Amino acid sequence: MSDQYQQELDWAITAVRQAAEICRNVQRQITPDIMEKKDRSPVTIADFASQAAICRHLMTKAPDDAIVGEEDATELRKPENAPFVERIESELKRVGIEPAGEDLWNWIDRGNSTGGTGRFWTLDPIDGTKGFISGRQYAISLALIVDGQIKVGVLGCPNLPVSPEQDEPAGVLLTAVHGAGAMIVPLDEDAMPSKITVSAIQSPAEACFCESAESAHSSHSRSARIAERLNITRPAVRLDSQAKYAEVARGVADIYFRLPARKGYVERIWDHAGGVLVVEEAGGVVTDIDGRPLEFQHGIGLSSNRGVLVTNGQLHEQVLEAVAATADSETP
Ligand code: AMP
Ligand code: MG
Repeated sequence: MSDQYQQELDWAITAVRQAAEICRNVQRQITPDIMEKKDRSPVTIADFASQAAICRHLMTKAPDDAIVGEEDATELRKPENAPFVERIESELKRVGIEPAGEDLWNWIDRGNSTGGTGRFWTLDPIDGTKGFISGRQYAISLALIVDGQIKVGVLGCPNLPVSPEQDEPAGVLLTAVHGAGAMIVPLDEDAMPSKITVSAIQSPAEACFCESAESAHSSHSRSARIAERLNITRPAVRLDSQAKYAEVARGVADIYFRLPARKGYVERIWDHAGGVLVVEEAGGVVTDIDGRPLEFQHGIGLSSNRGVLVTNGQLHEQVLEAVAATADSETP
């Protein structure tokens, strides 16, 4: 493996593993009762604690690196939110992090960069919040971007099985360094990582496709029409978060559709960067739905792109054609 970016990869792995431990601790506390009351606070605690832990680690290792994170601490600085801050701090203490003074706010606000060109990390401390609340899939996604190119990508998927044959949601960590391939390792064990590759299928009819569980995030009706056009018979696999990138990267799924459900929605870089590199380094292809490469150098949004299409590479052109042939279903 190329040594370039190896230390950044090590930092990212340590940080994501620690954040995953926090998220798991919090997910265990979310009871059906809380869900019914639509009390989102445990979720928010985990979002903030995960971002704080990761930014803290990166600040120690690479104090000059900017971070584009999803959360910010503005609300947490309000005196009335002190009890909330205490809950976040207690989750950090459970994993051995001791915030003092304004540490918590400063760690979280380290993620306030807005990206662009140059070198920065992008972080989604909990991607797939709805999955997290409901005990389904979610991911912690961290990537290093240098001049628009993703150099390092790490995806923590605490509720995915270690291998497709297993039912146990033991959790996996997927990692990639540009030009050096993609690897998978159980989230909790210090096992040897194994290399992953996308599937080799060439016929779209045999494909398994995945998409967001939320129809507001990706048009399910359009994917159904595309699937029909491609003679796909297997049912859609609906998963929250960048776990979808993980499943294409390790060949469990062959296609991931993200078809704009709302005209003009601009995808966020933290919802994709980690997953994109993992899939590309596993041999897959990622473009937008018009076949353009995703551009990560325009700030927090993928403003030059529309939707996202991920495939094992073999299927990409055929799927793009089918996507083009079903244009027009976006609601204004
Ligand atoms: P997923 O779990 O794949 O549905 O993706 C979750 C992510 O979707 C969240 O982190 C949001 O940033 C993002 N999101 C929110 N609204 C939309 C939308 N209208 N279209 C696409 N993605 C969205
Ligand atoms: Mg997200």
